[in-house]
This record gives sequence, C-alpha cells and structure tokens, in this order.
Amino acid sequence: MRAAFLPFSRPCISEAEIAAVGDVLRSGWITTGEQCARFERRFAEQVGCRQAVALSSATAGMHLALAAAGVGPGDEVITPSLTWVSTVNLITLSGARPVFADVHRDTLMVTDETVAPRIGPRTRLIIPVHYAGAPADIEPLRKLAAERGVGLVEDAAHALGTAYRGEPVGRRGTAIFSFHPIKNITTAEGGMFCTDDPQLAEAVRRLKFHGLGVDAYDRRVQGRAPQSEVLSPGYKYNLPDILAVLGLGQLERLTEFNRRRRELAERYFEKLAAVEEIRPLAVPDYPHTHSWHLFVVRLDIERAGMDRLAFMQALKERNIGSGLHFLAAHRQKYYREHLPATPGSLPNTEYNSERILSLPLFPDMRDSDVDDVVAAIKDVLAS
Ligand SMILES: *Cc1c(COP(=O)(O)O)cnc(C)c1O
Repeated sequence: MRAAFLPFSRPCISEAEIAAVGDVLRSGWITTGEQCARFERRFAEQVGCRQAVALSSATAGMHLALAAAGVGPGDEVITPSLTWVSTVNLITLSGARPVFADVHRDTLMVTDETVAPRIGPRTRLIIPVHYAGAPADIEPLRKLAAERGVGLVEDAAHALGTAYRGEPVGRRGTAIFSFHPIKNITTAEGGMFCTDDPQLAEAVRRLKFHGLGVDAYDRRVQGRAPQSEVLSPGYKYNLPDILAVLGLGQLERLTEFNRRRRELAERYFEKLAAVEEIRPLAVPDYPHTHSWHLFVVRLDIERAGMDRLAFMQALKERNIGSGLHFLAAHRQKYYREHLPATPGSLPNTEYNSERILSLPLFPDMRDSDVDDVVAAIKDVLAS
C-alpha cells in the first residue's frame, strides 16, 4: 500500500508564481488592476475570443449570464442535472425553473436530441456542460438554440484547452471558465466570462462591479475623475490582482499541464483495460482535443458487489483519494423535494450518478501514482 495519501487533485503552483503573488502584495495595489487586465488579454489571446472578463468565480459568471439575459420568475433554463450544483442553484434563486435534459450514457453530456424535447415557450437559455475536458457536441446545440430563439451559454469550467472540431471552446459564442483549485489552471478562486457579443461583455463588466460601468482600476487611472454613478444595480464579482497574477503564471503552463494530463489519462486507459468492473467514459466520436480535466470511470456495481461509496471508502483506506463529479442535482434533498423529475425521464443521468467517480489526475502526478491507483483498485475488487 502507498505510504502517503494521493489526493484526487492538487494545484501545481511554481516558486515563480509564488514570487509574482508576493510582488503584487508588496506593490501597493492588490485588488483588481493592471494584472487583471493583463490576465484578461492573455486569456483572450489563448482562447481566441473577442472579449474576456475576469470574475471571482465561474459561479459569478453564471449568475451574471442569467442576470444579463434577464432570466427570472416564469422562465425556464435547460441544463443537465449531472452538473455542479451552482448552475441549478442560481437558476432556482433567480426565480426561474431548472429543466433537466438527460445526458449521453457514455460521455455524460447533453445533446441536441436530449435538449430539443425540453424546449418550451418559457425556455430562455440552454446551459450545456463540456464534461471532464471533452467538448459537448456544440454545433447541433447552437443550431437548435438559434432555430428556437433561445440563448446558449456554455459551462466551460472543465474545458480550458479543449477544442471542438478544431476550434477552442470559448472562441465562439459565450462560455464560462473556472479557476477553482482543481481546474486545469487555478487562481485559488476565479473565473472568466468569454463572449463574442460585445454588448453582453459590456453588460457583464457593468454587472460585475456595482453597475458602475467602470471598475476600481479605471477609477485609479482616471485619477481624480468624479465618482462614477450606478447605471443599473450590479454585484461585486471582480478578480483581485493577487489572484490574477497567479492566473497569468498558470496560463503560461497550460499547454504543459494539459500535455501531462493526457499522458496520465493514457496510462490509466492502458492499465485499466483489463479491469472489467471499471469502465472509463467514452471520448466523443467527433474531432476534438480533450483537456483531461477529470478521469471519470464508472463502477460496475453489480459485478463489483459493492456500491460506489463503499468503493471510494475502500480506496481511501488504501491511501487513494477520489472525487464525485457529480451527484445528480435532482437527487439532492432540496431538488428531490421541490423539483421532482418525472420518474424515468433521466435514465442515463441516474445510471451514471450512482456509478461515477473521478480518479486522481493532476499534472504533478508521477506515472507510478497511476500505477498505485490501479493497484489499489485491483486490491479492492479482489477483497
Ligand atoms: C467548478 C465548476 C463550476 C463552478 O466553478 P467555480 O469557479 O467554483 O464557481 C461550474 N460548473 C462546473 C461543471 C464545474 O465543474
């Protein structure tokens, strides 16, 4: 058994990044400023998007996407139930109703076929998730949204470095990225709102800082310019420079991070091929670049003779961490009680929600760490 615990994720922070954060701390300007503006420019270059707005989290970005679209009571928003709860919570808190579309059984992503029957007269937005680093089949979803006159916002929290048919996720349309510590790059907490719609970008910039139309940095460079006014009430979702400078350093290493993630994923595929109780997700059959945010597998609970929780616990006892992305939202207490899904309407979501777990995957892992995970899995299944 491994001597030291292997977490399922760990941020990879360099000494240079730590020094850069120290420089900002000593500079006299620690909140949103020059570093944040640089981070937005570098990010927009990397993704190739027209506008990139840095925010305090992807959740903040999702909130502002809903707010900018004017989503409120009486509206419906279509999203998978198999997603991080923040999207479903925000739709609910806006007064609108989350409508769940089922996912493909083996990629865990919604498709135009699962979304189309959920569109109704009250549908305002569709929010697909690019899951685990693979791209959703976004072209048919774009076509569907355009035909039915509803908005499309891509949850790209897992998809930095992901490409769909040769085009990076975020280059076209509206996509929201996350820099939470487990994501492909981190700012501790942070997010990026990318859009090719300049008006939407302007609305998001305004909404992210009190509705003033400028943020603190603009006020500084404007010197003694008169205090700006509220143009429309807004929130406070700006990304401080301390965090943005970390993002700049991380972005430099994205290609290297994702290359290493791919190598580790390939090693998992190879080593797990003979383990019948464990099945990795399928990769999409359309052309794409995978960013390997997560390595998600399904446990064959019948064959293994144990449920997923017992399996994760047994791995933990062998010093192997694992994650759960995600427990279906409609199966969680509040939504079970307040938003019951029609029985049998989300079969693939429910099938996977009980069987998926995420194995350790982060760029600083060694090949031998993958071997330790697979050895622990075999040991659990044999006992
Ligand atoms: C992490 C994540 C989010 C939220 O990101 P934050 O930056 O933590 O707000 C949203 N959606 C998905 C699919 C995620 O994995």
